[in-house]
Amino acid sequence: MNTLKTFIAASMLTLTAAGLHAAENPDFNYHVDNFADIEVLRYEVPQFSSLSLDQKKMLYYLSEAALAGRDIIWDQNGRYNLRLRPVLEKIYVKYDGDRDSADWKAFEKYMKQVWFGNGIHHHYSNDKFVPEFSEEFFDTRVAGLCDHCLGLKPGEKREDVVALLKKVIFDPAFMAKKVNQDSSVDIVAESAGNLYEGVTQAEVEAFYNAMKDPSDPTPVSYGLNSRVVKKDGKVTEEVYHLNGLYGPAIAKIIYWLGKAKEVAENDAQRAYITKLIDYYITGNLKDFDEYSILWAEDTKSDVDFVNGFIESYNDPLGMTGSWESYVNFKNAESSKRTETISANAQWFEDHSPIDPKFRKPEVKGVSAKVITAAMLAGDAYPATAIGINLPNANWIRAAHGSKSVTLENITEAYAMASIGNGFNEEFVIDAPTSKMMDEYLYITDMLHTDLHECLGHGSGRLADGVDQDALKEHGATLEEARADLFALYYLADPKLVELGIIDNPDAYQAEYYKYMLNGLMTQLNRIEPGKNVEEAHMRNRQLIAAWALEHGKKGKVVELVKKNGKTYVKINDYRKLRDLFGQLLSEIQTIKSTGNYEAGRKLVEKYAVKVDPKLHKEVLDRYAKLDIPPYRGFVNPVYTPVLDDKGEIIDIAIDYTEGYADQQLRLSREYSTLK
Ligand code: ZN
Repeated sequence: MNTLKTFIAASMLTLTAAGLHAAENPDFNYHVDNFADIEVLRYEVPQFSSLSLDQKKMLYYLSEAALAGRDIIWDQNGRYNLRLRPVLEKIYVKYDGDRDSADWKAFEKYMKQVWFGNGIHHHYSNDKFVPEFSEEFFDTRVAGLCDHCLGLKPGEKREDVVALLKKVIFDPAFMAKKVNQDSSVDIVAESAGNLYEGVTQAEVEAFYNAMKDPSDPTPVSYGLNSRVVKKDGKVTEEVYHLNGLYGPAIAKIIYWLGKAKEVAENDAQRAYITKLIDYYITGNLKDFDEYSILWAEDTKSDVDFVNGFIESYNDPLGMTGSWESYVNFKNAESSKRTETISANAQWFEDHSPIDPKFRKPEVKGVSAKVITAAMLAGDAYPATAIGINLPNANWIRAAHGSKSVTLENITEAYAMASIGNGFNEEFVIDAPTSKMMDEYLYITDMLHTDLHECLGHGSGRLADGVDQDALKEHGATLEEARADLFALYYLADPKLVELGIIDNPDAYQAEYYKYMLNGLMTQLNRIEPGKNVEEAHMRNRQLIAAWALEHGKKGKVVELVKKNGKTYVKINDYRKLRDLFGQLLSEIQTIKSTGNYEAGRKLVEKYAVKVDPKLHKEVLDRYAKLDIPPYRGFVNPVYTPVLDDKGEIIDIAIDYTEGYADQQLRLSREYSTLK
C-alpha cells in the first residue's frame, strides 16, 4: 500500500504576514494550548458563512459522522486505550487536590498527551508516553472512583482492573511501541497497536499471500478493514463493519452519512455516499473499491469528505487502514493554481527525469483542488496532514485517477502561528536566505504540497507483474521520497513561471533551503537522544537531504559549515542541487517500478535512519532556547444547528472558542460509541 500524506515540518514556517491571505478575522487567536512537545492550535474556516444552507447542513452531518468514529481509532491504537481513557478523565474531572503539586501537573500533562495520541503512544514517534506522576498518586485517585467509574465488567475484580491499568501506564516494557519497524524483530508481534493479536509476521503474510492472486489486475486492498487474530489455532480476520468489529460506532457513522446523503449536491455525490454506506454495512472490500472509484470520479461537488479506514502507517505491514475523517469544501480561488497544475499533468509526466519506460504513457484524471478543512477526526485529529491524495489502490489510481487536495486553511494556521518565533534567526545561514524564505516559503511550501500530492504520487508506473507491496517495510519511505523528489524537481522548473503559478524563477530556492535544512538538521528536534529516525516521512526527508549532501560533495553543491561554533546548511549551487534531486528521483523510480527490495533497503539504511549524535545534540540545544514545540495539532470548531420554532434547521452556527481539554472531554461525553 502506498502512503499518501504530506506532513509539514511545523516549525519550518517562519513568515511575514504579507505572504498570507488576509484572515477573515484579523484578531483570530491561533494558539490554544501547550504541553510536553505539543502545541495545540485552532484553524479558521473562511467562507463558511457564505455557503448555502444545504452545504452547511451537509458539513454538519458529515462532521457528526466524523466525530462518531472517534473511539475506533482509540481502539485501533491499542486494546486498552478505551478502558484507560474514561478512568483518566474521571480522575482529571474530579480532582480536588492541590493544583500546583508536581503529581497533578504531571498527571495533567499525561492526560493531554494521551488525548493527543488517541491512546498511550506518541502519534509520531509511536513510543509509549512516560508518566511523570507517582503510582501512589494514581492509587489514591483511583481509590476515590466507584466500580462503575472504573468501567468494571461483570465478573471482573477491581484490583485486577487497577493492576492492569497500572501496567498499561507505568510498565515501560509493556506495549512499548505502537508500530515497531525494526526489521530485526517480528514487527507484528512487537507492535502494540491493536491490528493483530496472537499472530506472527510470518503467519499474517502467509494468510494474505494465500488470498492474493498475482494475476488479478484489480485486487482489493487486502487487510484494509480487519484485525487479524488467532482463533482455535487458526489465523482469521475480524472485519470492521456494521455487524462486526466496531459495529456500534459504524452504526452511528451510517446514520449521519444517511442524513448527509439527503442534502447531497448532486447524483454523483449521492451515489458515492450510498456506496460508502453499503461498504460500512457489508465490510466487503469490493464495495470499498467501487466507492473509491465513484468518489475519485466526482470532481464537481464543492463539499467533500473522507470517512473510513484509509492510511496504513499504523500497521507495521502497511495493510490495515487507520480510521480517519476529513470534512471539507473547495476553495475556488486557490484551486485555480492546482487546476492549472493538473491540467498540465501529462507535460510534467513526459518531462520527468526518470527512465522513459517507467513514465505513464497516459496520465489519467489527476484532479487537484485546494480545500478548506471544516472537521478533522480519527487519525487526522488532533495532528493532521496538510495534503492528501486518495484513493490508495494503485490500479484505481491508474484506471480512474485520484483526487489530490491541499488543506490551505491548515497550512495558513501553521504559518500564522509561527510568525516571529525566532526560527530563521537561529538556523538559517544568512539574512538574504532568511529574507527569501520570508517572501517565498509560504507559497513554495503550498506548491510543494500541490506537486507532491497531485503529480508526485500519481506519476510513474510499475513494470508488468511487479507487486505493489514489493518494497515492504521500506515502501512508505521510498514512496514519500518519490513524491517529494518529483515536487522538488519541478518547483525549480521554468514551466511554473510560464504557467503563471509563480512570479519569480528563483522562488524555489526558499523551499530547497528549507528542505535541506530540515532533512539534515532541524527535523532531528523530533527525535529523542540516542534514537534513530523511524517515521516514514522523516526518513524520506533525511534520505533525500543526506543523499544530496553526499553526492554533491565533489562539486560543493551543498555543505554543512561552522559559524561561531554552530552548524549551518550552505547551498552553493541551487541548479546542481536540482539535478541531484532529478537523479535520485530516477533511481528511486526504478527501484519502485522493478520492485527492487534490496536496492530500496540499502538506500534507506544508508541515508534515512542513522543520526549523528553530535549534530543531534546541537540541534536539540539550539531548539531548546527557542521554545518551539516540535509537534502541532488542532482543536476543531464546534458546529451547532440553529432551529426555527418548528424545529427545522435554518442555519449552522460555527464557534471557535472551545479549549483543548474541554473539547476532548465533550467528545468523550457525546461520542463514546464503543465500550
Ligand atoms: Zn505523500
